[in-house]
Amino acid sequence: MSYAYDDTNIFAMILRGDIPNATVTETDHSLAFRDINPQAPVHVLLIPKGAYVTIDDFAANASVEETADFWATFASIIESEGLAPGGFRVISNAGEHGLQEVPHFHLHILGGRSLGPILTG
Ligand code: 5GP
Repeated sequence: MSYAYDDTNIFAMILRGDIPNATVTETDHSLAFRDINPQAPVHVLLIPKGAYVTIDDFAANASVEETADFWATFASIIESEGLAPGGFRVISNAGEHGLQEVPHFHLHILGGRSLGPILTG
């Protein structure tokens, strides 16, 4: 499947530096920042810098370097945010059924409290 990337999306603007973000960590290929509307004490968004629309787009089309960088950054966030002992949840919404609002692949990394049932809708 091919994916049409819309570079006017808000995360593309963040990557261009057009709007500010509360950066957690940044690497050559990845950026993590705090969600503007946090749903838990820790709510970090991890994105690749490359133009990938959804998690399956990233999984299918990202380079080995981008993929390795992304997961190393993920591990560093779990460590730096102190999430491993208490546990955490990772969500990636994709497309219409996933109610994805921002069409640039991102992981929601949530923790800091018990998160309740995975789905309520
Ligand atoms: P989605 O529904 O696409 O999985 O989630 C998009 C997330 O991006 C939401 O949790 C929303 O709060 C967050 N968000 C939307 N606009 C901004 C923004 O300008 N800055 C930050 N830091 N987060 C944003």
